[in-house]
Amino acid sequence: MEQRVTRQQFNDYLVPVYAPAEFIPVRGEGSCLWDQTGKDYIDFAGGIAVNALGHRHPEVLRALTEQADKVWHLGNGYTNEPVLRLAKQLVDATFADKIFFCNSGAEANEAALKLARLVGHSKKPNEKNEIIAFKNAFHGRTLFTVTAGGQPKYSQDFAPLPPAITHLPFNDLQAVAEHISARTCAVIVEPVQGEGGVVPANPEFLAGLRELCSQHDAVLIFDEVQTGVGRTGDLYAYQTYGVVPDILTSAKALGGGFPIGAMLTVDSLASHFQPGTHGTTYGGNPLATAVAGKVVEIINTPEVLGGVALRHQWFIERLNQINHQFHVFSEIRGLGLLLGAEMSERYAGQAKHLTQLAAEEGLIALIAGTNVLRFAPSLIIPQEDIEEGLNRLERAVARLCA
Ligand code: PLP
Repeated sequence: MEQRVTRQQFNDYLVPVYAPAEFIPVRGEGSCLWDQTGKDYIDFAGGIAVNALGHRHPEVLRALTEQADKVWHLGNGYTNEPVLRLAKQLVDATFADKIFFCNSGAEANEAALKLARLVGHSKKPNEKNEIIAFKNAFHGRTLFTVTAGGQPKYSQDFAPLPPAITHLPFNDLQAVAEHISARTCAVIVEPVQGEGGVVPANPEFLAGLRELCSQHDAVLIFDEVQTGVGRTGDLYAYQTYGVVPDILTSAKALGGGFPIGAMLTVDSLASHFQPGTHGTTYGGNPLATAVAGKVVEIINTPEVLGGVALRHQWFIERLNQINHQFHVFSEIRGLGLLLGAEMSERYAGQAKHLTQLAAEEGLIALIAGTNVLRFAPSLIIPQEDIEEGLNRLERAVARLCA
């Protein structure tokens, strides 16, 4: 007989790097989840911007099970059909000529930063190696990516850290213009800072970075781990902004819930990587790439991408209504279905508490920092689920304000 699994076991057996909710979801369908007791939740978190097609999407499920019935893993001594199909799909749909596949966002950024350093060394050995990154940025948890991230609290205790990374204020083009030089090998930026509070870049800022990178022969890296694969209403946010990077990193929604990461780049940079310079055992694994191929095929259509703008409107209108009544948010912002609601002064620091109240009401939402309530739902979430989820949010807000 199977033993009953309890939340207490998390505390007993897992390294305590997370503090998960007290309930355990056991089943999902579309934008709904059910916990062990059968209680239902509307899912506005989407597994942190991952489940872009919701839970258990029938076509994605079929892609996974069909591939599972053929071959799961080969290793990089052999290529496979799903990875070749997915690479072509991404090349056809973006600025990129070549793709490197891996398993997570951090790994995609690690590859991007390593490639930028490699390219810099090829131009001016031991000189062109400086990386410009931004305050409050988040790029992952490997030592290199956590150092590139702009929140010292995540990196400082792991010192010594990789050197030659400078953090400048986000959206401050002047600061970049003053700092960038012939020593700069890369600028890495999120088009919308996700973990940092759902803060969209100003269009002039990204366009200016593009210009400065071209002038100084530095590589422009867009970290689209959170903004990518339809979230902003385009396949990638660089298309929303009309600013083309040299390297783009993707993960999260790319696999719709199956772990996969990718670094997209152009031929002139990709050719610096040769057999043996970089790699990972699972990169381009047939199960992951079969799923991602189906996810990209479904999302990269006018119906799904166009639906994002419509859903954005529904969210914004109703959030504004709730705010009109309760004055709980100081700003509601974001692009497409990456939305942030910053807590007003009176409720400063209470975003996490609000998500706990929301969960009691049957709504799963995210935070970004201590002060921003964040939503990253399925891109195809039905209107009635948005309405019901926001009804539940309204009840949670009413309790917070009572
Ligand atoms: N980059 C951005 C913009 C992210 O939001 C995240 C995760 O939140 C990462 C990188 C890291 O991705 P992963 O957790 O898959 O390593």
